[in-house]
Amino acid sequence: MADIIQLLPDHVANQIAAGEVVQRPASVVKELLENAIDAEATTIKLIIKDAGKTLVQVIDDGNGMSVTDARLSFERHSTSKIRNAEDLFNLHTKGFRGEALASIAAIAHVELKTKQELDDIGVQIKIEGSEVVSQEVIVTPKGTSVAVKNLFFNIPARRNFLKSNTVETRHIIDEFHRIVLAHPDINFSMYNNGSELFNLFESNRRQRIVAVFGGKTNEKLVPVDENTEVLKISGFVGKPEFAKKTRGEQFFFVNHRFIKSAYLNHAINSAFDGILREGTHASYFLYLEVDPKTIDINIHPTKTEIKFEDEHTLYALLRSAVKHSLGQFNIAPVLDFNSNTNMDTPYGYKNKEATNPNIEVDRNFNPFIDERASKNFQQSYKKEAVANWESLYIGLESKSNFTQQDFSEVQFESEEVTGSIFDENSTEKTQKTFQLHNKYIVNTIKSGMLVVNQNRAHQRVLYEDFLQHITVKEAVSQQLLFPLQLEFSNTEITILQSLKEQLEQTGFVFSKFKDSTVELSGVPVSVSDANVSLVLEQLINDVENEVPDSNFSQTDLLAKSLAKSLAIKTGQQLTIPEQEHLVNRLFACKEASISPTNKPTFIIISVDDLDKKFM
Ligand code: ADP
Ligand code: MG
Repeated sequence: MADIIQLLPDHVANQIAAGEVVQRPASVVKELLENAIDAEATTIKLIIKDAGKTLVQVIDDGNGMSVTDARLSFERHSTSKIRNAEDLFNLHTKGFRGEALASIAAIAHVELKTKQELDDIGVQIKIEGSEVVSQEVIVTPKGTSVAVKNLFFNIPARRNFLKSNTVETRHIIDEFHRIVLAHPDINFSMYNNGSELFNLFESNRRQRIVAVFGGKTNEKLVPVDENTEVLKISGFVGKPEFAKKTRGEQFFFVNHRFIKSAYLNHAINSAFDGILREGTHASYFLYLEVDPKTIDINIHPTKTEIKFEDEHTLYALLRSAVKHSLGQFNIAPVLDFNSNTNMDTPYGYKNKEATNPNIEVDRNFNPFIDERASKNFQQSYKKEAVANWESLYIGLESKSNFTQQDFSEVQFESEEVTGSIFDENSTEKTQKTFQLHNKYIVNTIKSGMLVVNQNRAHQRVLYEDFLQHITVKEAVSQQLLFPLQLEFSNTEITILQSLKEQLEQTGFVFSKFKDSTVELSGVPVSVSDANVSLVLEQLINDVENEVPDSNFSQTDLLAKSLAKSLAIKTGQQLTIPEQEHLVNRLFACKEASISPTNKPTFIIISVDDLDKKFM
């Protein structure tokens, strides 16, 4: 049989290698920034267009390359950083594998410009899919500029595999964060589609963290500092009360390199044991320095995972260092997060049954919307309630524990009179509604008893409102007397910007979007100016958590998030008209029976069920 083994041509080998090094535009960003740092640059500029799909460019003022080196840099296994395998165990640079530029050049259009300090002129090389298309002498400042255009132009499958621009930009910003946090002594700037996203000046670590994540971060940081023979730990952990639902702000740097380590992450979490609210994650920015001989970073092509010689000791040291600073700064042991469960019960109503309740009933007061819009709104909800009366039954069908026959029995006593579940005048006569533990609204219905979860019910109502506003009709906005200025970090601004259009449709009016400031001149009627910032923060948090891909889910996410932050909470006391109003609005919803997160909004306990319990 003939021989069948062949050596792969270089450009094919490069493409295959590229698959490991370059997964997405963010990988290019990482490699180029690292090269600039290795070249001892003091100022580095990152430019991206279309989430890096059309352009990723890094311009540095580092050492530059000679003409020969510039040409060689695109060859596979070409590196100036190690000479033999031993060097691998004494690494002080980011790169060493010598495959990044070769890989990138295999799958994109690359333009390199570079000049060394003492040379008069520099060189420009253009490469497309591993082929050099031109090489020229040029005038250019000291340093290097690498522009990577049309990534994956020759691998359509990879290109199609890329996520939406929002997601890819997010990855790039994550990568940028990791690098700028590891190198606060370098000036970094970043431009996204022509506008400046970051401009970070040389500073210390704390200042850099604050510059990246916004001014509010400063008060959240607790310093960690521990010096031992094997390990030097410094940096910060976030105070537990600021812990977020996302894992976003968790950074480990080992010898100035960002790394991922589930094991060490566990060490930190265990230091926070018992002092974090459930479902939240501590943020941390920890810088570890170890002898390079005791680690191996060669195990992964993107170099984000490393092997430590003595992981167990590291774990213990890290855990105790974090515990120590939490204790020192009086943070642990802390606060009882479960305090204040409001046990108010409506039992007082029992005594009022027969008489007119001495509650002042303001029939025009609507708790869920701004007073100014209240009147119209109340009228319209009643119309809605009538029009959507059948919707009472929608959703019930999906519940297996109700038989078809039950539906006919789900009748509210006063339905035929007013189209409202409640008889307009009934509250004054007999009490049919009451609030249980400031959490449930209990109503008498023909077949028995309806128990509505107030928070979930209101979420459903708001969710459908917002969805409708975003997708169908213009929302009502309330003009603010004084425009509201809110501060956000650059990342948060980017997220808000991507949602701007939809937010405007819900009633937000943005009068300015500048640097880290957002100015609002109007907000939806359901939002009060006091909680605007909370609402937007929650939204950003939700978006970060979810990284939605399509516009549809983005809209859905927005509606869900707003509904969640604005819905009346468990523990909030409601007047009887408020309770009735909420229940009526719930049953005017398209899908009254479930909350936006698919949990039941109400249950029905029939008289039969009750009877059975008394047998
Ligand atoms: P590695 O970084 O692993 O050495 P790369 O493919 O990233 O491999 O780069 C190859 C070589 O090109 C580097 O070793 C370095 O000598 C040179 N080089 C790359 N980028 C720059 C830059 N921005 N400034 C100076 N030299 C660079
Ligand atoms: Mg490199």
